[in-house]
Amino acid sequence: MALKFYNTLGKKIEDFVPINKDEVSFYSCGPTVYNYPHIGNYRAYIFADTLKRVLSYSGYKVKHIMNLTDIDDKTIRDSQIAGKSLKEFTEFYAEEFFKDIKSLNILPPIKFTKATDYINEMVSITEKLLEKGLAYKSEDGSVYFNIKKFKDYGKLSGLVLAEQKENASGRIKSDEYEKENAQDFALWKAWDSQDGEVFWETSLGKGRPGWHIECSAMSIANLGEQLDLHTGGVDNIFPHHENEIAQSEGATSKHFVNYWMHNEWVLVDTKKMAKSEKNFYTLRDVIEKGIDPIAYRFWLLMASYRTKVNFTWEALEGAEIALKRLYNLYLELDTEVGQVNQEYQQKFKNFVENDLDTPRALVVLWDVLKDKNLSPANKKATVLDFDKVLGLGFENLKEDIIPEEVMKLVHEREQARKNKDYTKSDELRGEINSLGYEVKDSTLGQQVYKI
Ligand code: AMP
Ligand code: ZN
Repeated sequence: MALKFYNTLGKKIEDFVPINKDEVSFYSCGPTVYNYPHIGNYRAYIFADTLKRVLSYSGYKVKHIMNLTDIDDKTIRDSQIAGKSLKEFTEFYAEEFFKDIKSLNILPPIKFTKATDYINEMVSITEKLLEKGLAYKSEDGSVYFNIKKFKDYGKLSGLVLAEQKENASGRIKSDEYEKENAQDFALWKAWDSQDGEVFWETSLGKGRPGWHIECSAMSIANLGEQLDLHTGGVDNIFPHHENEIAQSEGATSKHFVNYWMHNEWVLVDTKKMAKSEKNFYTLRDVIEKGIDPIAYRFWLLMASYRTKVNFTWEALEGAEIALKRLYNLYLELDTEVGQVNQEYQQKFKNFVENDLDTPRALVVLWDVLKDKNLSPANKKATVLDFDKVLGLGFENLKEDIIPEEVMKLVHEREQARKNKDYTKSDELRGEINSLGYEVKDSTLGQQVYKI
């Protein structure tokens, strides 16, 4: 079976045919490094990682680039609040991001590109758009993209022309806005006092780039003018990716990206998890509760990347218990690694190649581990093979994993402590001890050890 993906551009499932059969070019919009990402953000990176793993599993070599947005409205605003230089401020959060993706078993791209390293490329695309009459300079020296001059504007997000004409009378300087507010957007922002020390002196004048031009410049510089794949969360479809298409295709006159793929939202109480909603959790919160970050990855894989998922701590704890059960089944296979079972492998491959159907692929994993007719050695080999896609860390499992019944008590104790029920918390500690484990309270939450 050929690889199939849902393409936001074609609005349907399509067979994947790469431009160059030997190497897939793949760009993922990365984090804005102005704070700790929340776990909703990590869905975007776990999705991109799963896609990359599936491509490799299907035999493709993948050239994957992810950017770090280290210059935009938010990084400037918050670095000033923190009283730090933009560089010092964004480097700190980039390092924190690297730690987080490691704990989620997300494979790094071949390169993380920092927006501030590509200012020349951004200026040169903007110059080209000015030359072609697709952009214009405003009174203050900023440069805007003229969306009415680009006939395909709206093709990704389905913004209709009539809607566009009605609203496209003005221009917008801020990086983020809603579809109802489609207007000419900033490619280059002339310096103003709010930018403080942050500016570049270029042929466009003193200023800084808009957010959208950053990804056009970084993807083209590293992957060429035409790409196979581009990913992000659904909220990137408009305006970010719509604007990327306009800038890139406007400048090169070539079709920019063949497959646009977007992950759906992580919700909390039916609302999108977002910093602005103050309904978010970070990976630090997960670790503080004594939950393995990989359980979050596992929880996400239980749903298609194209469905919304509602986050609750109970759901995550349930996922952790299920994951530990899988780990235990694997650890019971006290044997050498044998041969990958072809039949199971084909089943698994068909699912993951069908628009990353990880929920069904996980059912195949359970089937393998519970199959009484498969030899332990072949089970082990098959699980390790599947884990190249799932990234659940079977390879590095040690014998001392904490049994699920202990983890259940640890979670109950967490709840008791939250309720300030210290008598119950002490009782639970006793029960945990009687099962041969010890729990210690630290700044990182409860730490569990074998006695
Ligand atoms: P940002 O740093 O705000 O650009 O977001 C980083 C990535 O996270 C983008 O691809 C967003 O689309 C994605 N994202 C933001 N919030 C959520 C959410 N609640 N669920 C899933 N993805 C999200
Ligand atoms: Zn981007």
